[in-house]
Amino acid sequence: MRPEILNPLFASVNKLPGIGPKLALGLTKLLRGGDNQDVARVGDLLFHLPSSLIDRRNRPNIAEATEGVIATIKVRIDHHEAPPRGNRRIPYKVSVHDETGEMTLVYFHGQGSWLEKQMPVGEVRYVSGTVEWFNGRPNMVHPDYIVSEDKISELPLVEPVYSLTAGISQKIIVKAVRAALSTIPQLPEWIDPSLLARERWPDVEQALENLHTPRDILDLSPENISWKRLAYDELLAGQLALSLVRAKMKKSTGKAWVDRGEKRQIILDSLPFQLTQAQDRSVDEILHDMAQPERMLRLLQGDVGSGKTIVALLACAAAVEAGGQAAIMAPTEILARQHLATITPLAEQCGIRVAILTGREKGKERERIYADLQSGEIDLLIGTHALFQANVTFKNLALGIVDEQHRFGVHQRLALTSKGNGVDILVMTATPIPRTLVLTFFGDMDVSKLDEKPANRQKIITNAIAMERIDELTSRVVDAVGRGEKIYWVCPLVEDNDELPVTSVETRHKALVAKLGQNVGLVHGRMKPAEKDAAMADFKEGRTRILVATTVIDVGVDVPDATIMVIEHAERFGLAQLHQLRGRVGRGDKSSTCLLLFKGPLGEIAQARINIMRETEDGFRIAEEDLRLRGEGEILGTRQSGTPGFQVARLEVHGDLLEIARDDARLILNSDPQLASERGEALRTLLYLFSKDEAVKLLRAG
Ligand code: ADP
Ligand code: MG
Repeated sequence: MRPEILNPLFASVNKLPGIGPKLALGLTKLLRGGDNQDVARVGDLLFHLPSSLIDRRNRPNIAEATEGVIATIKVRIDHHEAPPRGNRRIPYKVSVHDETGEMTLVYFHGQGSWLEKQMPVGEVRYVSGTVEWFNGRPNMVHPDYIVSEDKISELPLVEPVYSLTAGISQKIIVKAVRAALSTIPQLPEWIDPSLLARERWPDVEQALENLHTPRDILDLSPENISWKRLAYDELLAGQLALSLVRAKMKKSTGKAWVDRGEKRQIILDSLPFQLTQAQDRSVDEILHDMAQPERMLRLLQGDVGSGKTIVALLACAAAVEAGGQAAIMAPTEILARQHLATITPLAEQCGIRVAILTGREKGKERERIYADLQSGEIDLLIGTHALFQANVTFKNLALGIVDEQHRFGVHQRLALTSKGNGVDILVMTATPIPRTLVLTFFGDMDVSKLDEKPANRQKIITNAIAMERIDELTSRVVDAVGRGEKIYWVCPLVEDNDELPVTSVETRHKALVAKLGQNVGLVHGRMKPAEKDAAMADFKEGRTRILVATTVIDVGVDVPDATIMVIEHAERFGLAQLHQLRGRVGRGDKSSTCLLLFKGPLGEIAQARINIMRETEDGFRIAEEDLRLRGEGEILGTRQSGTPGFQVARLEVHGDLLEIARDDARLILNSDPQLASERGEALRTLLYLFSKDEAVKLLRAG
């Protein structure tokens, strides 16, 4: 159970004064994303840190006030001028002066009676807002504050500024945060005292207070000690949770699975190519782990097209020959079926019985799969997350492989582990992940890297083309079809949308059919599974030459003789995704092209992404750049940025803290595996604070 001390932070935001149901909805959208069911918590609000500040300390007199700069000026009120009756377009004006000059305060749709009460003629007021010079005279349109001399202390000289969403204004959020700050309980200290002293970090309460009441812009930097302290808390919670999962997995001791290598040899002999050195090395590392009595927890990282599937199959072959079963889980049905298609012919040659289980296998068929798994008639099961369901029981699962892991989470890994007794786990990622992210999402997993592409690969030529040249591009594509090439054409949307000036796959498909007729196929996520399969098969076998697609093809689809990838509206895709999409071509021995069709003018970040795509094919470098660009996105105030999965930690800034957190987590669990000491108790509170409830449950399960 969550410690009671955290209750104030887990209270819904509508418990704060002044936040009714409607504002709570707006805050939830801002803090938890649009489709979240749970009302945002006070803690969410407190971890929503200001992105900049308004400084009202500039106190010029009227003549000195600079255009476009926020100023706080002491003035005397001269007279009010209401707009002519019925003419709402003319603003309400208040003339004021000081000893250096005159200024006009401007109110559109101003309410005369209210304004007259705020600013009686002849009295002194402090007004604060942005000064604009207009026809040689300074104006202040809608001053942010007007206060009388005795209320000057109520004028906040430095105000935090938060990112917002529709329906939530700065004033509302500032007020809500103020209220939230006053509810923070005194939390036990979970950080190691010597680290705390060395870094001079404040306690959590003080850190939050500092960040929400910045005095200057440096107070808002992720490098600030208060921010660092919170980032460390978040990273430590994450590392501790991962270590607990790992400890749990390692505890149920594994089994030593050792094969003689006969099945593997049969597979290797029937491949039309030699394994790369990196593939060889990875297979060795995996077999070595499987042969240990401890459980394997290994991550196989390989750029797109580096040949992970065959490594996975060889590991499965070893598991089966050693007397166990194996399972491969893919994130999409298309991918599961593709694995089935590649793997089955190879597996059957060495007597491995393969089956598939997705949402599509129903009724009697499904029952039979369950029964065959349980009796051991099936050696290798390929599927989607359907593999996790309760009624899936294996006779003797030895190896669970999770493909394209970034779409799954720790739960899934645990669920797969529980399907057998000492199951070895291999996680495969398609996107090369920077080291820091590996640590944060996978913790201390052992890593094998496929850092070498198969030798037959040709460089992919990447070009950027402005949308205005689409006709030229289309005729190039028509020529390419004439030469017998295969082309992917990716668009961001399924259907046209009135609100977005973006071509959909349906529109593009129609346009290309008009030019090329039956040669053009279509695949997107809203089609029925059987239709998707048919479209993929048509393309693979050459019945269609162009496949117009959404990003359903971004993970792992393998058509080795496709040579051209057109990405329309490339400016709308993230870097990792562009790289994944490009990885669909250049998989055979023919040279390939990737054409990034963009609609200008390009923003700074979109331009940077396209440049990087043109410069390099190295997925590891692209992943690092992606992280960096997202970090910059945050600084530029664009949405959807920051480090995915984190509230306050920014890995491009706090990467070194991550290493410390990992070591710390390891030390803690070595000396206090049940988190039973006083610091252990405090750390449990930390885990709950960052919603790592699942990890705490593992402690109890023992
Ligand atoms: P990914 O790592 O993206 O999952 P795949 O396993 O789908 O890559 O492999 C991509 C393509 O490369 C497949 O067509 C596969 O048959 C081929 N391939 C794999 N290993 C080699 C190799 N050593 N030499 C040549 N081609 C290979
Ligand atoms: Mg793959």
